[in-house]
Amino acid sequence: MLKQMLKSNVVDGIERSMGHLSDPRVLSSIRVQSTIRQSLRESLVRRGFLEISPTMLSPLTDPLNHPVYDPYITAYGEKLWLTKSMIFHKQIAVQQLGKIFIMSPNIRLETEDKLSSGRHLFEFTQIDLEALETTREEMICLAEEIINEALERVAAVNSAELEFLKRKVKPFRRPFDAITYLDAREKFGDDFESKLSQQSESPVWIVDIPIEAREFYDREYPDRPGILRDMDLIWPEGFQEALSGGEREFQYDRILERIRRKNQTEEQFRWFTELARKGIRMSSGFGIGIERFTRFVCGLEHVMLTNPFPKVPGVVSL
Ligand code: AMP
Ligand code: MG
Repeated sequence: MLKQMLKSNVVDGIERSMGHLSDPRVLSSIRVQSTIRQSLRESLVRRGFLEISPTMLSPLTDPLNHPVYDPYITAYGEKLWLTKSMIFHKQIAVQQLGKIFIMSPNIRLETEDKLSSGRHLFEFTQIDLEALETTREEMICLAEEIINEALERVAAVNSAELEFLKRKVKPFRRPFDAITYLDAREKFGDDFESKLSQQSESPVWIVDIPIEAREFYDREYPDRPGILRDMDLIWPEGFQEALSGGEREFQYDRILERIRRKNQTEEQFRWFTELARKGIRMSSGFGIGIERFTRFVCGLEHVMLTNPFPKVPGVVSL
């Protein structure tokens, strides 16, 4: 199927799109995804989170820590980037709103080699959330709760789809296991994320990520230089990364130092740094990929099977 996707002329593309939408796996996973979206949303609203509008164009977006093509449009004489994540918007909005989330469409033009990873789309949605004066440990607890609530809901609502997909779904025992990034690398080698995921039957947290492996905005331990107060959650059975998050740098001088360490410039982030200069409070958050969540629950070979109009790296389609 992937090879087929690569043949990309318009007529083929139209036929492929029609075929995709009559694939029973796609139809089942879309139903499951609808339950996941609804459950996550309700779990957050129940806990006092406000849903805010997504931002799709902005003079500022996530620099990311891996290379992607970088699309922008020109409007009113300025460059507006297509949103890669709302990290800065979250950190700014939460100062006034306390606890927020966004069903956030992200465009990340991932490189073509990601076509067959099974888990990359160049257009996807994350539930991106942030809370003021909240620790990483509280965020981990929240993530476990809302994931388990979604799994419980899918089990209750989508039995027909799960039966067709031959998947059994139930909440996982809490707290989920956790391992530090450095311990994971020592135990499993450079490919630790994939190995850890393959050998696990429950989700696993990877915590305390080294500074060079993450963007400048993840907060460094005040007393452990080079190690960040952040986390990734890894889905079991080889499905790999579920979410990333952590505490944010909020002190102006720390932010500037971290930007410089990345060889980036303050100018690049001035919409954010100007605010930080006036003073912002600490916050934490995470973003969980909806398509990857669905792929794991449905046990699917590729994340494209969770989206009616999937955009896989390197392929133009409807
Ligand atoms: P990040 O903050 O970069 O880790 O992105 C947040 C979450 O979005 C990840 O943990 C994934 O679940 C999801 N995600 C990131 N990039 C992609 C992609 N290219 N395709 C699908 N999901 C993605
Ligand atoms: Mg990540």
